[in-house]
Amino acid sequence: MLNLRMGSSCAVGLKSGCQIARRVTEGWASENLYCASCDSGRVRPMPHNSQAVDFACPKCSAAFQLKAARTWNERRIPDAGYHAMMRALGGDSVPNLLVMQYTADWYVRNLLVVPSFFFTAAAIERRKPLGPTARRAGWVGCNILLSKIADLGKIRIVRDGEAFDASSVREQYAAVRPLADLGVRARGWTLDVLRLIKRLGQQTFLIGDVYRFAGELQQLYPKNRNIEPKIRQQLQVLRDKGFVRFLGRGKYEMLK
Ligand SMILES: [Zn+2]
Repeated sequence: MLNLRMGSSCAVGLKSGCQIARRVTEGWASENLYCASCDSGRVRPMPHNSQAVDFACPKCSAAFQLKAARTWNERRIPDAGYHAMMRALGGDSVPNLLVMQYTADWYVRNLLVVPSFFFTAAAIERRKPLGPTARRAGWVGCNILLSKIADLGKIRIVRDGEAFDASSVREQYAAVRPLADLGVRARGWTLDVLRLIKRLGQQTFLIGDVYRFAGELQQLYPKNRNIEPKIRQQLQVLRDKGFVRFLGRGKYEMLK
């Protein structure tokens, strides 16, 4: 079972709260965390200058970034530079994201992993540029909007201080992996449609239920003039990838 207690002795001598938290949470992950993408029991810390990648799996080379905080905001995670993030997204080089909440006495309270292929432009929020008096004036950061990521892409490793079995975490990761085969440009549409049909909260749904999201999709893709045909095409993609089944007469069933 995953050990949820973090050792804080590795942070002795550090003064800034931010540095201490980073050292303790990364120390915990490098000693305890397994890879969700394969059966490796460990992930390895990367040198600190590796851009946005904190850990890599020695077996399947999956890359992970860890964002840890005491307060849990499932909606919005502050990330690094906006432009670097959008470049990484375009180049399909975004790492898997680990989002952790820890307690005041250094226990892992919540931890989830978002597979790298679940990120879309809709999930990246541009922050205001830093003001002229800031050390990095003009720099533009971003937030990751977890609310804009389909629930299937937020895989729980720990919830409220209880760790799930590694095997169930890996099964959930494997179940969504077919999405990784889609090209990075095509994937945005597929993920947005998947997120919206999941929001219906129904085992079966009608094409008309999905068309109700046309306005929302139009906002995300203002240049697209064929939203409804695009929705039907994406439902075919989701069928081919095993996420939905066509029941006929405009009716669909969720399979995952
Ligand atoms: Zn791995």
